[in-house]
Amino acid sequence: MEEHLMKILIVGDGNVGKSAFVNRYVNGQFNKTYKMTVGVDFSVKVLKWSEKEQVRLQLWDIAGQERFISMTRIYYKGALGCVVMFDVTESSSFLKCRHWKQDLDNKTMLPNGESIPCILLANKCDLPGRAVSADSIDEFSKANGFVTWMETSVKENKNVGESMRRLVQEILSVQ
Ligand code: GDP
Repeated sequence: MEEHLMKILIVGDGNVGKSAFVNRYVNGQFNKTYKMTVGVDFSVKVLKWSEKEQVRLQLWDIAGQERFISMTRIYYKGALGCVVMFDVTESSSFLKCRHWKQDLDNKTMLPNGESIPCILLANKCDLPGRAVSADSIDEFSKANGFVTWMETSVKENKNVGESMRRLVQEILSVQ
């Protein structure tokens, strides 16, 4: 069995659902009051990719450090992929995605000089009162070099595994 090790960053404003996303993906749970322990560096998920390959994902959640706005280089070091998440009911969290993507592109790079694969997730799509249209997300995603974007609901387990598969697929294709 061939194993690929991938460090993946989960960034975005506070309260958009990053910890819930990691918890759902890694532990298969959604707990309304769940909060990742501050100080835990990353969570691990082993994904069976094919008959011969598995992927060991290290998911780095910025867990409460969003207020620092710009993350340290240590956090970015060795990352092969990134999830930028916002809350579709909070337009301010969408507007901040440009900043999160720029910070990422300033601090990480593939050996060939390209930016690392990054997927944009529009979370909490189960909630009424959307504040951001699909058209504007699509336009933003294309203009800012995201692999793609997807609507997710960590609460209803919509597109959680699918979005990570899409990101892993892209990471493997650029290696
Ligand atoms: P973080 O600060 O980005 O890590 O956000 P959390 O994971 O702590 O989530 C913030 C709040 O949003 C929590 O109360 C979660 O239960 C809630 N939440 C996360 N994802 C969803 C979702 O898809 N739908 C709904 N309705 N609530 C969510």
